[in-house]
Amino acid sequence: MKTARTEGSTVFDRDFVSAVLTWSDSNPRSLPWRVDGARERRDPWSVLVAETMLAQTQATRVAQVYPSFLERFPTALAMAQSTKSEVLERWIGLGYYRRAVRLWESSRAVVSNYPNSFPATLAELLQLPGVGRYTACAVLALGFGEAVVPVDVNALRVARRAIAGSALTHAETQQLLDRLVPPDRPAAFAEALFDLGSQYCTAQAPRCSQCPLSDRYCVWQRGLRRRSVGGRCDQEPSPVVDPALDPANPGSGRPRVPPYRGSRRHLRALVLRSLLQGRGLLDREVLFENVAALLNDSDSRDGSSRSLGPSVSLPTTTELFGEALRDLVSEGFVIETEDGLQLAP
Ligand code: SF4
Repeated sequence: MKTARTEGSTVFDRDFVSAVLTWSDSNPRSLPWRVDGARERRDPWSVLVAETMLAQTQATRVAQVYPSFLERFPTALAMAQSTKSEVLERWIGLGYYRRAVRLWESSRAVVSNYPNSFPATLAELLQLPGVGRYTACAVLALGFGEAVVPVDVNALRVARRAIAGSALTHAETQQLLDRLVPPDRPAAFAEALFDLGSQYCTAQAPRCSQCPLSDRYCVWQRGLRRRSVGGRCDQEPSPVVDPALDPANPGSGRPRVPPYRGSRRHLRALVLRSLLQGRGLLDREVLFENVAALLNDSDSRDGSSRSLGPSVSLPTTTELFGEALRDLVSEGFVIETEDGLQLAP
C-alpha cells in the first residue's frame, strides 16, 4: 500500500479516529435517513433505500422525497407488492429512474429469497439488482453495525489526504478504512467521513483552515506545513500534489461534467415523468409536446446533481427524444403500440 505514514501510524490512527468521532458527536447533521442525527443502527431496508437515492442525487433533494417514499414503502414487502409504476411515481424528483426499477427488483428478490430476514452478508447484498460494493457496505455498516466502511468519494478524499497522504486506489482505501473503523461505532465513523469530505475536504477547494483535522490529524496538510516552515521532510513525505487527485490522471482534478439539460439522459427522465403524469396511453406527438414543455420549464429539473446547460434547439430535442424513447422501449420501461405509449406495468 502506498502510504506516507511511516512512523507512529498506530498512535496516529487512534488519535485520528478519536478526533473524527469527537468532531462528529459535536456536529450531528439532521438528515431524515439518520433519524435526526442519532447514530444507532437502522433498519437495513431503509438504509438500502436511502443509499440508492443518494447515489446520484443531491442530499437536499433526497431529503424532500425520502420521508414520504419510506412511508409508502416501509419494508421490502410493501414495495414488492406494489407495481413498478407506483415506485416510479414516488421517485419523481430524484432522476435516474433506472435506480427505482432496480430497487423495486431488489425488493422482490428480498421477499422471495429472504422471506423472514434481510440479506446480511456482502455476497448476499451484492446479488441484489443494482447493489454495488459501496451500497452493500453501507447496509452492513449502518444497518447491521458491521465494522466496514462504505467508501464514497468523500471518504476516499479524506482517506487519501488526511490518513495516507498519497493517492491510494479504491481497494487500498477500503482496506485502510476497514482497519481503522471502531467496531462499536461503524455508522458514526462512516458518516463522519462523509460529512468531513462534503463539508471541508471538498474536491476542488478543501477548507483546511477550518477543518477539524487541520494539520494536526491530516498527513497531507502536516507535510505541507513542514515544508513551509522548513522542517524535515525526509521522515514524512509531504506531497505537494493533491493526493485526492485521480492517480491515473493527476492533472485532471475533477472530471468535467457534461451539461445535463437537453441531454439524452435528461430526455429519458422527462419522457418517464410525462408518462407518469399522463397516467395511461399517450399519443407520441402529445408526449413530445409534454416533454418539450417540461424541458422549457425551469422548474423541471429532475433532481440530478448535474447543472443545466444552455438552451437546446428543437431539432436536437426531437432527435434526442426519439433516441430516449427508443432506449426506454428497448429496455422495457415503456410500451409502444399503435394506440400510443405507456409505462410498462
Ligand atoms: S485538513 Fe484539508 S486536506 Fe486535510 S482532511 Fe481537512 S480539509 Fe481535507
